[in-house]
Amino acid sequence: MSTGAPLELSAGTRERELELIFERSRSGRRAWSLPPVDGSVADLLPSEHRREDAPALPEVSELDLVRHYTRLSQRNWAIDVGAYPLGSCTMKYNPKVAEEVAAMPGFAALHPLEDDALTQGALELLGTLERALCNATGMSRLTFQPAAGAQGELTGLLIMRAFHAAQGQERHRVIIPDSAHGTNPASVSLAGYTAQEVRSDERGLVDVDALREVLDDDVAGLMLTNPNTLGLFERDIQKIQAAIHEVGGLLYYDGANFNSIVGRCRPGDMGFDIVHLNLHKTFATPHGGGGPGSGPLAVSERLERFLPKPVLGFDEGSERWRWEHDRPDSIGRIHSFHGNFGINVRAYAFLRSLGPEGLRQVAEGAVLNANYLRVLIESAFPTAYPGVCMHEFVASAKPLKKHGVRAMDVAKRLIDLGYHPPTVYFPLVVEEALMAEPTETESKETIDGLAGALLQIAREAESDPDLLHDAPRTTPARRPDEARAARDLKVRWSPSQ
Ligand SMILES: *Cc1c(COP(=O)(O)O)cnc(C)c1O
Repeated sequence: MSTGAPLELSAGTRERELELIFERSRSGRRAWSLPPVDGSVADLLPSEHRREDAPALPEVSELDLVRHYTRLSQRNWAIDVGAYPLGSCTMKYNPKVAEEVAAMPGFAALHPLEDDALTQGALELLGTLERALCNATGMSRLTFQPAAGAQGELTGLLIMRAFHAAQGQERHRVIIPDSAHGTNPASVSLAGYTAQEVRSDERGLVDVDALREVLDDDVAGLMLTNPNTLGLFERDIQKIQAAIHEVGGLLYYDGANFNSIVGRCRPGDMGFDIVHLNLHKTFATPHGGGGPGSGPLAVSERLERFLPKPVLGFDEGSERWRWEHDRPDSIGRIHSFHGNFGINVRAYAFLRSLGPEGLRQVAEGAVLNANYLRVLIESAFPTAYPGVCMHEFVASAKPLKKHGVRAMDVAKRLIDLGYHPPTVYFPLVVEEALMAEPTETESKETIDGLAGALLQIAREAESDPDLLHDAPRTTPARRPDEARAARDLKVRWSPSQ
C-alpha cells in the first residue's frame, strides 16, 4: 500500500519549505510571551561565565518554530511511516511497549556513576539480557559496550589480536569474503590487520578451495556473515570452521543477519568464536539515525578474559550484582560507562514480550516474507543467485539497462511511489544490485503493494524511462551528490554561506 505522494505545493510555499530556521528569523520576534521576571536571573551566573553580546540565534514566533520542526520531522522516512525494505539493515518495527519500558523513571533517570548498591535492578536487567543473548548465540560471555555493529567488529578484532598476542604470536591477515559489508575490511584495518579477500563461488557462497589456498599461520581469523549478504546460508560452515581452526585462526560472526536464524540455530554451534549482534537490527531497537545503537560483542569461553572492562559480576553469597574492574588481560574500554543502556532496556523488553516461541517466529516470518517478495518481482528483477533465500535477497535491475534505466533510478522512483528503496549497488559482486529485506513485521498487503510498485516501475522503464531518470519528483531535494555530501560536510550554518 502506498502512503501517497506529498501534495503539490505553490512555488512560494515550496521556497519557504526549504528555508532554514535562521532564514526565517525576523528581528524582535519571540517564541514566548511571559511576564518579566523580578530581579535578574542572569546575576545568578558569575560574570566571567557570561557573554557580552547576545548569541546570533534565530528570532521566530512560536507557531513558526513549531511548524518548521514539525515539517522537518515529516521529511524523514521512518518505519512508523511506511515500508523500509533496506537490505542488510533489518528495518523492522520497534514495538512501543519497549519505549514505555525504557522511559520508566527508574531506567531513564539512572546516572551511570550511581553506586552499584543502588542500581541492582538495572544490573540484573543487563545480567539477564546477557544470559539470554549468550544462550541465543551459543556464546559464553558478552560486553554491552560497543555502540553499534561496527564498533563490535573493532572490539572483536582487538580481542582476536589479544588472544594471539597471549600465545606469543603476531599474525597479520584477516580473511573476508568478497560479499562482505564494508565495515568488515574497515574494522580489520583499524585493528591493525590487513584484510584479504576470498572469492564467492557460483552459488554465492565462500569458495572453500579458494579459502584453503590463502590459509596459513599468519592468518588471525576469518570474518563471516551467515547467512551472508546475498541472503544465502553458508552451507559449508563446518568445513570453513575446521579449516580456520586448523591454522590456529579465530572465526568471527558478523551478526547483522542474525534475524534470519534467531531462535533456530546458533553461531556458537557452527564453530564461531566471536559474535557481534546489532540490537537495532534483530532485537527491534531503533536505529537512531546516527544516534545510539547497541552492538553487543559475545565470545566463547577461551576469550572471556580479553573482554572490555568492567564486566558484570554476580556474587552468589550476597546475591549482589557488581562491576568487576580487576581484569588484567582485558583489552580495556571501548565506550564510556556501560554502552547505550536505554537501547539494551528496549531489547530486553522486546525479548520478554516475545518469549522463546515468539522469537522462533521472528526468523520464520522474516524468511517467508523475503521469499514471498522475491517471487512476486522475479519476472522483472531476477535474483542474482537462484533458489530459496533467507531473510533477504539480492535482485538485479540489469534487465532494465537496455532502456537506459539503472538500479538507482528504480530506487529513486520508488520514493515517489511511497516506499523506502531497497539497498542499491551492494553487495558489490552483483551487477545493478537491489537488495531487499522486508522483515517479519510487514503484512502481506504491504508486501503486495511494494511488489506492485516495483513491477509498475519495470513497466515505466520501457514506456517512459525519463520519468525514472527525473525521480524523485516529490521530495525537496532530488538527487544529492552522495559522495560529496559525505566528504564535504557542512554541519554549521553561517550567514555568509
Ligand atoms: C549493518 C551491518 C554492519 C554494521 O553494523 P552497524 O550497527 O550499522 O555498525 C556490519 N555488517 C553487516 C552485514 C551489516 O548489515
